[in-house]
Amino acid sequence: MNITFLGTGTSHGVPMIGCDCLTCRSSDPHDKRLRPSLHVQMDDGTSILVDAGPDLRQQALAHDIRRVDAIVFTHGHADHILGLDETRRFTGPQGHSMLCYGDAATLADIKRMFAYVFDPATPRGGGLPALRLIEMKGDVVINGHTVVPVPIMHGERPILGLRFNSFAYLTDCSQIPDESMPLLHNLDVVVVDALRIRPHPTHFSLSEAVEAARRIAAKRTFFTHMCHDLPHADTNARLPQGMQLAYDGLTLEL
Ligand SMILES: [Zn+2]
Ligand SMILES: [Zn+2]
Ligand SMILES: [Zn+2]
Repeated sequence: MNITFLGTGTSHGVPMIGCDCLTCRSSDPHDKRLRPSLHVQMDDGTSILVDAGPDLRQQALAHDIRRVDAIVFTHGHADHILGLDETRRFTGPQGHSMLCYGDAATLADIKRMFAYVFDPATPRGGGLPALRLIEMKGDVVINGHTVVPVPIMHGERPILGLRFNSFAYLTDCSQIPDESMPLLHNLDVVVVDALRIRPHPTHFSLSEAVEAARRIAAKRTFFTHMCHDLPHADTNARLPQGMQLAYDGLTLEL
């Protein structure tokens, strides 16, 4: 299994429009962060996207992603779903509907924000995304690969962390319920939301993320969904052993 970080930024991305801070002006490519998404490539070629944010087109071009078998959504916020129209390139030539897995609230968000896709009166024009929405009520199996939903809290909203084998992805997280901890045992890699240094109502701060990572105790931890308050090199130099900020384009072989 190969995991590629397609985007590791918060909803604004880094650099942020109109910002002149040191991170936004940094020439270090690790400080360029697109909106959060992940590409999971199984050894048999099965290709799964986690979320489809507004940068999906650019991310697919950068990583030459030509085939996607399914998209698994963590939740329905704009920075995680606004790229859905780009999926026309994955379904058109192959003639299948894109399997979109998510919890009920996420699928409702998609139906509302992409109402034109589901409206029979919409003229075909340049083509419409072909989406097949499937509610994720428990583990799902995609081409023989099990994806385990891990309930986490994003402020007041329950959303899904996701586990693929010994890898887990907990983006947009401000609390991990005790009941979810058994789903996070024996991980080689965990990815945890770490928005910034200061506390935030719906995301872990960096110190909260480090504390959560210690509880989970995976062999390696990467942080994601960072805003411009966390410059890559300086922040990494201060993190405990085995914990690092992820960056766009980072690929893990597991
Ligand atoms: Zn900035
Ligand atoms: Zn969110
Ligand atoms: Zn987000």
